[in-house]
Amino acid sequence: MKKALSLILCAVLLLSLAAPAAAADGGCDCGFSPIIYVGPLGCTPIVRDAGAENEQTLWKIDTQFLLSNLKDVLPALTKALLTRNADLLGDAIAAFANASFGDLALDADGNSKANVTTPELSVPAGDRHGPDSDYYFNYDFRLDPFEHADRLHAFIAQVKALTGHDSVKLKCSSMGGVVLSAYLEKYGHDGIDVIICRCCPLWGTAVAGEAFCGKVELNATALTRYGEDAIPYLETGFADDFIEGALYALLDTLKGAGLIDALCALGDRILRDAGDRVFQQALIPIFGTLPGIWSFVPADYFEEAVRFMRLPAEGGLHDKVFAYRTAMANIADNLKAAKADGVKLCLICGYNVQRTPLVTLWQSTSDGTVDTKYASLGATCGNVKEPLDDAYLSAMADRTYLSPDQMIDAATCALPDCTWFVRDWLHCNANAGIDALFDLVMTSDEVSVRSFEAFPQFLAADEDADTVDPVTGAPDAFASLKDRPSFLNFIRFLFSIIKKAALAVFSRA
Ligand SMILES: [Zn+2]
Repeated sequence: MKKALSLILCAVLLLSLAAPAAAADGGCDCGFSPIIYVGPLGCTPIVRDAGAENEQTLWKIDTQFLLSNLKDVLPALTKALLTRNADLLGDAIAAFANASFGDLALDADGNSKANVTTPELSVPAGDRHGPDSDYYFNYDFRLDPFEHADRLHAFIAQVKALTGHDSVKLKCSSMGGVVLSAYLEKYGHDGIDVIICRCCPLWGTAVAGEAFCGKVELNATALTRYGEDAIPYLETGFADDFIEGALYALLDTLKGAGLIDALCALGDRILRDAGDRVFQQALIPIFGTLPGIWSFVPADYFEEAVRFMRLPAEGGLHDKVFAYRTAMANIADNLKAAKADGVKLCLICGYNVQRTPLVTLWQSTSDGTVDTKYASLGATCGNVKEPLDDAYLSAMADRTYLSPDQMIDAATCALPDCTWFVRDWLHCNANAGIDALFDLVMTSDEVSVRSFEAFPQFLAADEDADTVDPVTGAPDAFASLKDRPSFLNFIRFLFSIIKKAALAVFSRA
């Protein structure tokens, strides 16, 4: 009896030991490897003096904190405005920026101050996985992307062990693509079966490039369109459609009356006069020390940015900023290598949304934040709201990858067969139609822009309906009104007619 009992005990012991080993060796047979969602900038709070009585969240931006800092500089600000003293104004804005963001700055080695931390960094827990469940990977956006890559490497191993799968899917949003770039450069694509890049600044974004070169300019047309493009995304609640339509009419009327131009001219003068002091006293000493923000600077701007932002010629910060340049330069090849080894890829980016009205390159088509040409790894694009120019179009031999609205030629992309474009899609905005495409990408054997009938290469986002539809031609205010008879679409149509009529009258005069 005793012998039998010990035999049973031994068997139980062996089985219990064998269980985790089996799990680690592809033990789950559900057929769906776990998703790891690599979040965007600001995916986790950055806190000063965490746990102490004077604890202060520095990011995500704490409005209360900003207002109290503003209150402190209000006397100086008022004096500067009353005396029209640009130097005083610059000093006041710089003082405000330093009080609000100064503690985010990293030291000469690119490390955070000891009392500024990210207390909510994610650690994988539980074994729940499947199409509707993901493991969230967050990070301190300020730091060296390779530090995140190291953490992601360990994170992936933990997720595999927890779920009993030997591969994972990476779904990256916005800055998540920077983490991915560093990861692929250092660790390759082993153990990854799907990569999704959603609005990722893989080759940077012009806003960062221009800001880091001190090229700041307010443009009235860009500002008006920026406001108009944002209107459908407003949550105004009561009388939503009416308020949206009225706002559109107001913005367009103000622009027509020259008021927005006047405002921009004033803003531009202030930027010119006070801007230098703000750059020297605040922007350079704070944001110039963040390798995470440096990772957004496109290659074309980098050399000038190094000079303008006074990046040290050596040391830890210098090395971290320069190390990422290799990851950015190689991302296209690293993705191609992954594809060649059977990794399913989906790069998806927005276009035709007016970008930040603060940069000289305001005509570069984008999702409002990331330029389409940089997120798509090399698409040739017309200016925002415009088709490619006639010379380009007539010289095209092959139109396979030309969008039906003639705004984008994807043939010049690094991965034209795995790159989707969504017209009027605001940066990283949730859209059920795009999520449905992701589901197909994650569950299909074949993934390309020709794989799914409902999701060809060029799609248009319908914010109200929460869908995407294939692009069939140029944007048309009348067709939009017919498809979706809302007040906002009526106002858009009305103003498009007024503009056409005004243009006809002026061109005749
Ligand atoms: Zn499973």
